[in-house]
Amino acid sequence: MRIVVTGAAGFLGSHLCDALHLAGHEIVAMDNLSTGRWDNLPARPGLTRLTVDVANPIYVEGKVDRIFHFASPASPRDFARVPVAVAAANSLGAWNALHLAKEKGARIVMASTSEVYGDPLVSPQPESYWGNTNPVGPRSCYDESKRFSEALTRAFALQYGSDAGIVRIFNTYGPRMRRDDGRAVPTFLDHALRREPIPVQGDGLQTRSFAYVADVVAGVIALMESGYASPLNLGNDEEVTILELAEAVIQATGSESPIVHVPAAPDDPRQRKPDLTLARRLLGYEPRIGLREGLAATLSQREGQLAS
Ligand code: NAD
Ligand code: UDP
Repeated sequence: MRIVVTGAAGFLGSHLCDALHLAGHEIVAMDNLSTGRWDNLPARPGLTRLTVDVANPIYVEGKVDRIFHFASPASPRDFARVPVAVAAANSLGAWNALHLAKEKGARIVMASTSEVYGDPLVSPQPESYWGNTNPVGPRSCYDESKRFSEALTRAFALQYGSDAGIVRIFNTYGPRMRRDDGRAVPTFLDHALRREPIPVQGDGLQTRSFAYVADVVAGVIALMESGYASPLNLGNDEEVTILELAEAVIQATGSESPIVHVPAAPDDPRQRKPDLTLARRLLGYEPRIGLREGLAATLSQREGQLAS
């Protein structure tokens, strides 16, 4: 098939492109290099790399069978730095990707997020939960634009009969995350490797459920091919506190870094764990790589990055 991937030079997008290319598909990769880099996705036959901003209308010559809309900065640090670009990628970018899908008669999968649940009042979070978000808070450029991208996807399906899926991705980590990305896993690994204190925000008792990238990529591709049209959670349902994550990183790196507490991030969700019942039933999805193994795999690449 001929497949368009937006956000293809980023962390998730580049792994997705690698998996699709390996499966024999032709890839049209789009990215504006705001938080990604083409080094993540080396040139090869069957892969076209286009440096474009998908918040502007996008054009592709020839047939397109599938579109994955993954373009958006995804770190709370980016929400503070470039909130307008974040909102644009998930509103204008989603609009343009959906129009491209409509024009080409392609199935599209929209990368949504567990952030649509906000600071959830139920746990684990099933797809039926409507969430608890702040429309004008420090994370709203992301939360609310992702919620809009879901609403827009549904509107295209209702009005035009678009073939579209929505994946709510929970915290995912792995090789190729930027060292200075600001998210917990790359920050903790980076500080541990440098023997610097590990900055745990707040009391560290807030929870997340961290998925290794290969598990999520496999699930995203399965969702694309399933034809499923409603939002679907993907991730790993092994829930840990952020203090436990810090300890796991210290163990994985053999570091002597101390843990230090720094001020809590405003509106930081207290708990997050996916209810994966639907993904298991629908796709036979099962996250296979636990935190210890996934951190070791991530670490092997980061040590190389630090040495270079
Ligand atoms: P990332 O920052 O590594 O990748 C995002 C990519 O999108 C970057 O290469 C960036 O340059 C590109 N981009 C941003 N705005 C663009 C625009 N307007 N036009 C073209 N390209 C643009 O982040 P990631 O973690 O790989 O996230 C990828 C997608 O997955 C995002 O949509 C994100 O919201 C979603 N997601 C990620 C996670 C996670 O834990 N990693 C969780 C939930 C959802
Ligand atoms: N966090 C932290 N120190 C950091 C970065 C993040 O303690 O340097 C915490 C953050 O407060 C949150 C959790 O780790 O509770 C996950 O943060 P991340 O930015 O990775 O993802 P998100 O908040 O988007 O789930």
